[in-house]
Amino acid sequence: MGNKTSCIMPLDKHLNKLQRSIQISNILIRNCTIYDGTGSPPSSGDILIKGDRIEAVGRFEGIEGSRIIEAGGIAASPGFIDTHTHSDGKLLENPQHANSLRQGVTTEILGQDGLSYAPLSKENYLANRRYLSGILGLPSAELDMSSVASFKSHYHNKVSINTAYCIAHGAIRLEAVGFEDAPLTGTHLEKAKALIRQGMEDGAVGLATGMSYFPNAWSDTQELIELCKVVAEYQGVYVTHLRDKNTDRAFGGGGVPEALEIGRRSGVKVHFSHFRTNEGNAGQVQAQTELIDKAIRDGVDVSLELYPYPTGSTFPLSFLPSYAHEGGPDAVMDRLADSAERKRLSDYLDNDYSRPIDDAVFSYVPLHPELEGMSLPQIAASRGKSLGETLCEILLENEGQVGYWASPPVSVSIWDQINRDAIELLSRPDYMVGSDSIPLGSNPHPRAYGTFPRIIGRFQRKYNMMKLEETIQRLTDNPARRFGLESRGRIKPGYFADVVLFDPNSVIDNSTYDDPTQYPTGIPFVIVNGTLAVDNEVCTGKFTGRAIP
Ligand SMILES: [Zn+2]
Repeated sequence: MGNKTSCIMPLDKHLNKLQRSIQISNILIRNCTIYDGTGSPPSSGDILIKGDRIEAVGRFEGIEGSRIIEAGGIAASPGFIDTHTHSDGKLLENPQHANSLRQGVTTEILGQDGLSYAPLSKENYLANRRYLSGILGLPSAELDMSSVASFKSHYHNKVSINTAYCIAHGAIRLEAVGFEDAPLTGTHLEKAKALIRQGMEDGAVGLATGMSYFPNAWSDTQELIELCKVVAEYQGVYVTHLRDKNTDRAFGGGGVPEALEIGRRSGVKVHFSHFRTNEGNAGQVQAQTELIDKAIRDGVDVSLELYPYPTGSTFPLSFLPSYAHEGGPDAVMDRLADSAERKRLSDYLDNDYSRPIDDAVFSYVPLHPELEGMSLPQIAASRGKSLGETLCEILLENEGQVGYWASPPVSVSIWDQINRDAIELLSRPDYMVGSDSIPLGSNPHPRAYGTFPRIIGRFQRKYNMMKLEETIQRLTDNPARRFGLESRGRIKPGYFADVVLFDPNSVIDNSTYDDPTQYPTGIPFVIVNGTLAVDNEVCTGKFTGRAIP
């Protein structure tokens, strides 16, 4: 950790040492209100940064920085850690990543929902890159994704923020059996376990899956328990978007019971992705968390996350039924191109799909950007087709590269209740924040630009939320500890200098469902590994993010 000396050295000796080393590049943040990330009440002071670390915290007279930031009393906190994003592809195409950085985010955890690129052979990378293009975009086909180590090398000191990686369950399944509907057993399971072991050795922080998606949902509970036993050996985290597909092959019908059973039987730390109420169960926090609380009392190690919006966003290729995904992207497109097959798929979407699709608004359609911002019912009406037929046509016309978000509730009162539920959940000590950001297209879900300022600004001021220092703990120290991000998540000597300055009285999200790409205001400075990444609300173009932990 390297912080022992700074902690125990007497102050005068310490200052002499600081003065001697002042020629080395450093930043002095003067007169800020320091929220150290632990949830402790704030203190006023200065923060001295040297190299990539926080050198000292206190009051410093006679110390000069090569860059002095006069903070004027605004808040300084550890950079925010976003536990769930879908930036894996976009970061490779646009390393500035301003939508996230400008929110004060300095670290993102990738691989989410099991939808990512490593470890994958060349052939499987090319297939999965196409298959996931509606949620991850299309990064270069030339990249080596054959290991977690090679994946990490594409981000290390090449993008603006730090990245950590959860091994994608989908990638593991592709390497083991390809796009095939079969729970892993025997030699296939052994291969998958070996890949996870190697990925954890390469520095992954866990395994992520999404049980609304394929090939993930071709697994059964037993497969996941076996895979998680390996993750548990490394104290990694099993991150799960709960199962709502192929529920007949899951313990307890999938959902919460399956995730808890996996934790119980493998000993792995379980982390629930984007777990909050929605339009259907607003106000029912207690009922939502009852089973989880019982499992925690029984010794299952659980954490959770949410984002502060009432509806979600994903890629609608995933709406197609289980069988339609077999064989991978070429086979899916062949089925959509065949009129009889397409009729069968659209009938499924119109009549049998588990959730309505009439709230879909297209966010990302790069081959036909004129559709971005249009709703599925609007396009269906103009074509004189059903919703299912129209969605199948749009998927076909765009080679599956389509993203959407769901409209917010018509009832403002229900929306408000979902916000209040989110705050109640976030007040639990086991909660953190994952934006679930999909920063693609002209009309992304507003969470990609607004999640963190929405919480520390709009929600913090509008609702009777917990104390700001407690809120900040959920965004910093909590995820750093959970995911083993060493020496991050606190303002503390010896820790990496990931720091955000924001004005608690004015910070606010400006991105909305009808104008989603607006940056927040009130976050003037962001520092990543000791380098100014945002200077007076302007991105500096410095790419000092590291692939961690
Ligand atoms: Zn997600």
